Amino acid sequence: MRDVIVVGAGPAGSRYARRAAQEGLDVLVFEQGTIGEPLACSGHVSTDVLEYVPEEDRATLLQNEIRGARFHLGGPNSRAYPFYKDGVVSQVIDRVELDRVLAGAASDDGATVRDGHTVTAVNERDDHVAVTVKGDSGTETHQAKLVAGCDGPQSRVRDAVGLPDPDELLHGVLGFDPDPDDGDFVDVHLNVPRFFAWRIPRGPAGVEYGLATPPGESVGERFDTLTDAYGVETERRCSGLIPIGPPNSVTSERVFLLGDAAAQTKPFTGGGIRYGMTAADHAARTIDPDRPVTLADYEDAWRSELGREIRLGAWVRRGYSLPEAIQRVGLRLFSGKIGVHMDEPSSLFSREQLRALFSR
Ligand SMILES: Cc1cc2nc3c(=O)[nH]c(=O)nc-3n(C[C@H](O)[C@H](O)[C@H](O)COP(=O)(O)OP(=O)(O)OC[C@H]3O[C@@H](n4cnc5c(N)ncnc54)[C@H](O)[C@@H]3O)c2cc1C
Repeated sequence: MRDVIVVGAGPAGSRYARRAAQEGLDVLVFEQGTIGEPLACSGHVSTDVLEYVPEEDRATLLQNEIRGARFHLGGPNSRAYPFYKDGVVSQVIDRVELDRVLAGAASDDGATVRDGHTVTAVNERDDHVAVTVKGDSGTETHQAKLVAGCDGPQSRVRDAVGLPDPDELLHGVLGFDPDPDDGDFVDVHLNVPRFFAWRIPRGPAGVEYGLATPPGESVGERFDTLTDAYGVETERRCSGLIPIGPPNSVTSERVFLLGDAAAQTKPFTGGGIRYGMTAADHAARTIDPDRPVTLADYEDAWRSELGREIRLGAWVRRGYSLPEAIQRVGLRLFSGKIGVHMDEPSSLFSREQLRALFSR
C-alpha cells in the first residue's frame, strides 16, 4: 500500500508530491492527460512562484516581467489609471512548461508520476483508500493510506467523498496574438460582470487577451468585443473554470483537497498557482499518513496562512461591481506608485503601501 496517491499533476499536485517524497513518503501521482495540457491559464504570477521551481529551470519558464497594471472602466480607448512599482511586480511564465518542470522535479525527488491515467473512483475505507484508475492498458485499483485530490475545479475526488463545492465557478477564456510584445504593463478592463478582462504582453510568445465572468454571461461574445476593440484577431482560443470561495472543509477521513479542488484561489484575480503550492507545502509538513487525524492540522495550517488573504480578496473583488462613478473616484485616488504584493491583499495596509501613497 502507498502512503499517498495524488490525483492530478497540476502545480498543486506536483508540488505536494515533490515535498512529500522529500519527507520520505511513498507517493504515486495519476494525471489523466499529458502533463500541462490543455492550457487554460495565463501564467501571470507573483515573483515568488519561480522560487518553487528548480533554479536551473527558472530562466526557460520566464516569458516577460511586469511592472504595473493600467486599469480601465471601459475598453482600450477609455482613460487608463496606472498602478505601478519601480521594480518588477509580477512575471509571465510558460504555464505548460511550469507543469512539466514541477512534475519532473517530483519524479526526480522520488515520487512515481504516471500520465495518461484517469482516476474514475475513490472509495474511503476504515484503514485505506481504494483508487480506481483507467489507463491505456485497462483498469487498475490501487490502495493508499491517504488520497490528495489535486484534480482541479471540477474535482472528481471532492465529489466521490462528498466534500462541499466551492461557492462559485467563473468561466475564463483566453486567446493569443503571436506578435511579440515585451511591454511591462498589463491592461485590466472593469467592463464585464463581476470580474474583468485583460491584455497581457507575453514577450516573444505574443500577447494574451482574456476575460472571466460568472457562467451564463456570454463569455464568447464578450471576448469578441474585447479583441475587436483592440483590433486584433486571436488564435488558439482556450477556456477553463476558476473556483472562488473555499468550502468550510477540504478534508474527510482519509482524503484532502489541494489547489483549485479546494478553491485555494485569489477571489480578485482568480489566480491559484501560488496559493495551491503554498497549501501543498503545509500539507507535506503537517500530514502524517499513519495518523489521518493530522488532516485537521493541514486544515488549520493552510487557513491560517491564506484564509485572511482570501477574505480580503473577496472584498477587493466587490469593488469591480461598484457604480462606475465610485470606481472612477477610487481609481483616481489610488492610482500611481504602489507598494502592494499581488498575492497578498493585506499588503494594501502595509507600511510599504502607505509610504508609496504618501510619497506621490
Ligand atoms: C482562464 C484562466 C486564467 C488563469 N490565469 C491564472 C494566472 O494568470 N495566474 C494564476 O496564478 N492562476 C491562474 N489561473 C488559475 C490557475 O490555472 C489554477 O489556480 C491552477 O491551475 C490550479 O492548479 P491545480 O494544480 O490545483 O489544478 P490544475 O492546474 O487544474 O490541475 C489539475 C490536474 O488534475 C488533472 N485531473 C483532473 N481530473 C483527473 C482525474 N480524474 N484523474 C487524473 N487526473 C485528473 C487535470 O488534467 C489537471 O492536470 C487561471 C485560470 C483560468 C481558467
